Amino acid sequence: MPRSSLARSIDGKAAALALRAEVAAEVTRFTAATGRVPGLAVVLVGEDPASAVYVHSKGKATIDAGMQGFEHRLPADTSEAALLALVDLLNADPVVDGILVQLPLPSHIDADKVTTRIDPDKDVDGFHPVNAGRLAIGLSGFVPCTPLGCLMLLRAELGDLSGKSAVVIGRSNIVGKPMALLLLGDSATVTIAHSRTRDLPAVVRQADIVVAAVGRPEMVKGDWLKPGATVIDVGINRIDKQEGKSRLVGDVDFASASAVAGAITPVPGGVGPMTIACLIRNTLVSAARREHYQMEKRL
Ligand code: NDP
Repeated sequence: MPRSSLARSIDGKAAALALRAEVAAEVTRFTAATGRVPGLAVVLVGEDPASAVYVHSKGKATIDAGMQGFEHRLPADTSEAALLALVDLLNADPVVDGILVQLPLPSHIDADKVTTRIDPDKDVDGFHPVNAGRLAIGLSGFVPCTPLGCLMLLRAELGDLSGKSAVVIGRSNIVGKPMALLLLGDSATVTIAHSRTRDLPAVVRQADIVVAAVGRPEMVKGDWLKPGATVIDVGINRIDKQEGKSRLVGDVDFASASAVAGAITPVPGGVGPMTIACLIRNTLVSAARREHYQMEKRL
């Protein structure tokens, strides 16, 4: 049933700026205490334009936070062996606290092999099986940046998530599964939905929290939602408009969802900015762990 007022729009841009400022302040203290600057190495193989934009933004966020960025741009025909050798060098380099190999990789390179080669204690993307395992059994490690950012937005919006009913739509290793585990860690009652889920609208309708990570433009409609639900839209879909122009939309139909939800993240300006903020947060956490440095604030 539509509500009389529209849902609050959750400002991920502002939340990300605030997190980045807190990371920068903590980097200053870390550097004063340890005499060194946290470092993030980003590796890009090939010329994929979207990946190049992401790598540029990550590099800029690193520098803005007062950290050192090490960018490695390799040609598309780089061999798997050469890439693995670079990962080995970065694993051994004491000034590198975080390593990120931008995905997707060219098809001749086995991405799983590369991800698994990164030292789990420098794996700031949180994709290494050791970090996936740590998350599953509740040990501290690195959590993938996108679901971590979603959790931060949910905590800021709702406070305690304990006992809330959450539905995560999508079960990928980088978003859906870690998101569900994070919500479970906060004592939500979690359902994971996917392409084989029967009567998805009915499943979604019982949730206080809905996280959509599907990759299907505007799939989740307002009449799927419980009135007052909090909706986190992870989707980034480019759809064509007229005259050759395109625009970004999420996995949630923002207009109809806003009429029913209590709060919702917009696309763009919701989850996206939090992903990069969490990457620099993870890099700082890595540096602090490696130096046995106690951060002033738990970020
Ligand atoms: P994947 O394609 O890896 O996973 C999509 C998931 O959605 C799968 O589990 C799939 O189910 C499920 N799914 C597909 N169709 C349906 C359907 N009709 N009903 C229910 N479930 C369905 O995507 P990602 O997890 O990598 O990304 C999801 C979205 O998030 C994308 O739009 C992506 O662009 C965006 N994204 C945004 C980020 C950000 O920073 N904001 C970062 C990462 C991703 P099944 O497993 O059964 O196939």
